[in-house]
Amino acid sequence: MSFKKIGAIVAAAALALSLSACGGGSSTNLQALKIGIKFDQPGLGLNEGGKFTGFDVDVATYIAGKLGTTAEKITFIQAPSAQRETLIDTGQVDLVVATYSITDARKEKVSFAGPYFIAGQDLLIRADDTSITGPDALAGKTLCSVTGSTSAQKVKEKYPDVQLREFGTYSECVGALLAKGVDALTTDDTILAGYAAQAANVGKLKVVGQPFSTENYGVGLKKGNLELCNKVTDAIKAMISDGSWQKFVDANLGPAGYKPGEGNPPTPAACS
Ligand code: GLU
Repeated sequence: MSFKKIGAIVAAAALALSLSACGGGSSTNLQALKIGIKFDQPGLGLNEGGKFTGFDVDVATYIAGKLGTTAEKITFIQAPSAQRETLIDTGQVDLVVATYSITDARKEKVSFAGPYFIAGQDLLIRADDTSITGPDALAGKTLCSVTGSTSAQKVKEKYPDVQLREFGTYSECVGALLAKGVDALTTDDTILAGYAAQAANVGKLKVVGQPFSTENYGVGLKKGNLELCNKVTDAIKAMISDGSWQKFVDANLGPAGYKPGEGNPPTPAACS
């Protein structure tokens, strides 16, 4: 065999190898992803017997697709507000897509891609309550929120006279509100709209509709993983420009009558 022939065979073998390494269209070597979402927030992240729905679920699935992963390769893991940084830091999840506001304090522990959505903190009250008209009408009232959230933090900083009860999840606060154990639940308007629209709560709960913060939702990931952060940022940009973002908003937040506020869809910031 001539050197030329051997060279051609080696080149062909190398090409075949590199093709199979790239996947070559097959799904056998796509990367598995663990993604932290909320399990109890209708319209955003909801687990109904292993069926995952919501805006964050659709965003996560879209991003996973851009990272070369199919929906079947995603494992959704519950990421309660107070546990998100730890879940990322310990590698229990690769990404968190869970109504997760980008803040300076959190940026010390994790990196964020985004924002991919802008929400605002609001109040959920019982439908027959006419006394709570906004955050300045909360004196003497008992408010419920979730440990480790920006919502609870804001109440402590800005409304120290209000009695705050903290639970681990927002659905626990909804239960307390219905049972008259608290007077209001405070968190992002997106989350509150989802609860108010749930069949069991219609006519019983209402959103006040006076947002008093800006919540920039980001995709949380391991601190300093710039490569992943840049890929997720590109995916978010594509999701907005190809119309998927609007489709996900309409499908998940539309049924609750929620309309994205000013600044939406946002322009994702550069990863740092
Ligand atoms: N977006 C806020 C936060 O990240 C409130 C909602 C939540 O707890 O997920 O803290």
